[in-house]
Amino acid sequence: MFSDRLKKLNPYKPGEQPKDRVYIKLNANENAYPPSAHVAEEVNKFLSEKNGRLGLYPDPDSTELREAIAEHLNRTGGVLSVPEKAAARLTQKITKDMIFCGNGSDEVLSFVFYAFFNADKPVITPEFSYSFYPVYAGYYGITLKKVPLLSDFSLDTDTMLKNAGSSTGIIFANPNAPTGIALSCSDIKKMLDVWPADLPFVVDEAYADFGTESVIPLLAEYKNLVVVRTFSKSLSFAGMRMGYLVANPEVIQGVTTVKNSFNHFPADIICQTAAKAACLDVDYYASTTQKTVATRDRFRETLLKAGYKVLPSETNFVFARHPSLGGHEVYEKVKEAGILIRHFDTEGIRDFVRITIGTDEQMDKLAAVMVSLA
Ligand code: PMP
Repeated sequence: MFSDRLKKLNPYKPGEQPKDRVYIKLNANENAYPPSAHVAEEVNKFLSEKNGRLGLYPDPDSTELREAIAEHLNRTGGVLSVPEKAAARLTQKITKDMIFCGNGSDEVLSFVFYAFFNADKPVITPEFSYSFYPVYAGYYGITLKKVPLLSDFSLDTDTMLKNAGSSTGIIFANPNAPTGIALSCSDIKKMLDVWPADLPFVVDEAYADFGTESVIPLLAEYKNLVVVRTFSKSLSFAGMRMGYLVANPEVIQGVTTVKNSFNHFPADIICQTAAKAACLDVDYYASTTQKTVATRDRFRETLLKAGYKVLPSETNFVFARHPSLGGHEVYEKVKEAGILIRHFDTEGIRDFVRITIGTDEQMDKLAAVMVSLA
């Protein structure tokens, strides 16, 4: 009864969402802080004043939201931990025709795979990066050229570049996941300088707000650069589903054609209202992002002192390895203590666990458990 296509699918496995026991949940890189209070205010206002609009289709192109996202980026430069500094690096004003909105960045990524990558040549991607890329590659019948990370777990940009000529494009997360390590903007610029101008160069900035730089300023110079971003992490929006692209207007038009051939209305009216309110509250989110960054750096120091290897992180998670125990054992012991973290049973990173940064109180509890194991 099922199609041959379906039989070949290999779906994504997200972090556990347990219903049986109340865990401290540090396994899906969700935000420890609630969304801006303006989100609930605007949604409540909408429901009490414009309830009838729920019966009408939403704006298919999320026009007001795209304007709000453009304003958000002009104010933050795409880095909520250092918004003024990052905004000062912008060389052009971001406009709404440079933004595309979708139902979470997972959907946006699916449109990116469809819009830019051909099946006749492989897409270059790091061996360890976001585990949805191989899923989409399988879905669209595209092959991947997986480039191993260097011994310090950073990206091997030389090898990625060497494969450019025989590829249909490149995609990686920056900062990368699950490592947390970021490639600097100047290194990405060096890659773009030699990258073929007619091949897509896709940077997934799901975690860039927790770092120090965004590649958005490079859009002025490189028309083939495509930046994928999400509200799920820094804007505490994982439950609402809003992701977006920042790119040059021709790129946005191409992806919009894909959207209009698949799902005309990816963002419902409540989501558009809520997301608009969220991204305009820059002060609130700058403060929660800065708190997460401070907690992360303090937690990392604690683990390092206890003898763990902890990769440098510019995200809202850390990737850590116990001096002798395997990653699964650490995951199990931490789970017994009522805390969920993430373990990937994959050769090459099996000894690590990925830990989302929660509140100070949550991280102190986890640190106590992890230090006692060391
Ligand atoms: N990119 C990366 C690197 C991620 O880690 C995630 C979250 N799992 C996503 C994209 C997708 O996020 P969302 O669909 O919630 O926007």
